[in-house]
Amino acid sequence: MSTFSVTVGDITQERVSAIVNAANSTLLGGGGVDGAIHRAGGPAILAECRKLRETTLPGGLPPGEAVVTTGGNLYAHYVIHTVGPIWHGGNGGEEETLVAAVANSLTLAAARAEADPPISSIAFPAISTGVYGYPKEAAYRVIYRTIRAWCDQRRDPAEIRLVLFSDEDLALFTDVTGVSP
Ligand code: ADP
Repeated sequence: MSTFSVTVGDITQERVSAIVNAANSTLLGGGGVDGAIHRAGGPAILAECRKLRETTLPGGLPPGEAVVTTGGNLYAHYVIHTVGPIWHGGNGGEEETLVAAVANSLTLAAARAEADPPISSIAFPAISTGVYGYPKEAAYRVIYRTIRAWCDQRRDPAEIRLVLFSDEDLALFTDVTGVSP
């Protein structure tokens, strides 16, 4: 069974095989965690994203889907880019899209369990809870429920981590899920 843990930190510094980027559909960079990942990982990540746009994804990456690139200069060998939902009040399929973003990222990671280098561990940021405006309590419930369901059924990736950005965020996560580090 995959194992779950939660921590506070800067996801670009995580010692894992893959980190997840809360990207936008253009895949060409943005603010928040996206900007931090491109800054820390260097130009190789953007170069692969541009190539994806020129080949398989001319219209960009749809919300809920995921693609993988190199991690460039990061400790993580891979970045899995996914696009979370923009919050429009909750009746626009936001929850389904957030579930899909997490599950499709895990599916991509699991498919590389035997790759060279392999993905044995993955770290997620709190997708959509920044500029995309998804209320944190609700997003934490959805992200946690989706990862837990995965852990109950799957073996890969062995380690799944959620990286929150502040102690306040972690306290809120513990409040809504009952899970602490
Ligand atoms: P989105 O557009 O999906 O809302 P954001 O990057 O704006 O993505 O924010 C998603 C979450 O990531 C926010 O809760 C934000 O606090 C957090 N965040 C921003 N930078 C980092 C980082 N370096 N490491 C971990 N989490 C981060």
